[in-house]
Amino acid sequence: MRILPRRKTTWAILIGAGILGAAALLLLAQPRARAALRLVRGFSPLDVERRVWLEHGAEDMAGAIAAALPEVVARVEECQGGPFERSFRVYVCASHESFARHVGEPVSSPVRGIAFLWDVWVSPKAFSFHGRDTHREALTHELSHLHLGQKVGWWHRTKEIPSWFQEGLADWVAGTGDEQVSWREAREAILAGRSLELDESGRLPFPKRPETYGMAWPMFHMQARMFVEYLRSRDAHAFEGFVMAVVGGARFRSAFEDAFGEDLSAVWGDFVQSLEEGPG
Ligand SMILES: [Zn+2]
Repeated sequence: MRILPRRKTTWAILIGAGILGAAALLLLAQPRARAALRLVRGFSPLDVERRVWLEHGAEDMAGAIAAALPEVVARVEECQGGPFERSFRVYVCASHESFARHVGEPVSSPVRGIAFLWDVWVSPKAFSFHGRDTHREALTHELSHLHLGQKVGWWHRTKEIPSWFQEGLADWVAGTGDEQVSWREAREAILAGRSLELDESGRLPFPKRPETYGMAWPMFHMQARMFVEYLRSRDAHAFEGFVMAVVGGARFRSAFEDAFGEDLSAVWGDFVQSLEEGPG
C-alpha cells in the first residue's frame, strides 16, 4: 500500500537524505567525531611499531612511545585483569596546538594525553609536564582508560563506574596524579574535610567533574589515587578480585561491597582514619 503519492514520496526521501547529510556534516565538523572515526590527516604509522601513528616532526617522541609501549601494555594488562580486547593506535602529535585541534580541546588545556574511543592521543606536553618527562606515565594512564573502555564498553563505563575510580585506577597503574599535588597536601585536604565526592556509580551522559563541587583536577587525581592505593594495601587479594569484577562488567557498588565487606563510605572512613593515624 502506498501511503504518499509518488512525487511526495520522492520529496520525502530527498528531504530525509538532506537532513541526514546535514547531520553527518555537522558531526564531521567536530574534531572528536573525526578522531573517533579515524578521519585524521597527516599521521602515518611508525615502521617499527605499527600501533604508533606520528605526525611529521614527532619522530623522536614517537620513537620513545614505541619503545615504551610493550612494557606499558604489559603493566596495564597485569593490573587490570587481562589482555586488551582489540588493537589500538597511539597518535603522537608534533605540537600541543595540533593535539588540541585534533581532540577538540582548547589550546590552553593542560591535558597531555587522552583516550578517545578506539585510540590514544599524546601531546608533546607528556614529555615535559611540570618539569618532568612523563611520556611513559601519560601513555600508561591513557591506556588504562582505553583498556577499561574496551572491557566494559563506553556506555557501561560512563554509567556504572565512578570517575574517581577510573582516574584513581589509572593514576595507580601509571604512577601519575602526584605531579602537581603532593601526598601530604592531599592528606591535609582530606583531613580538613575537603574530600572528593565519593560517587557509587558513574553518570550519563557525562561523568561528574570535580570542579562542579569546587575541587581542582590535580587534587581530585591525587585523592583518587591515594584511595585506590589504600584499597590495595588494605587487602591486595580483595582488590584484585574487585578490579576483575569491575572489568568483567559487574555493578560497581555491589562489586565493592562483595570485595571489601563494607560499603564505600565505611571504607572511606577507614581510609581517613588511616591518614589520621599514619605518618604525616
Ligand atoms: Zn584520566
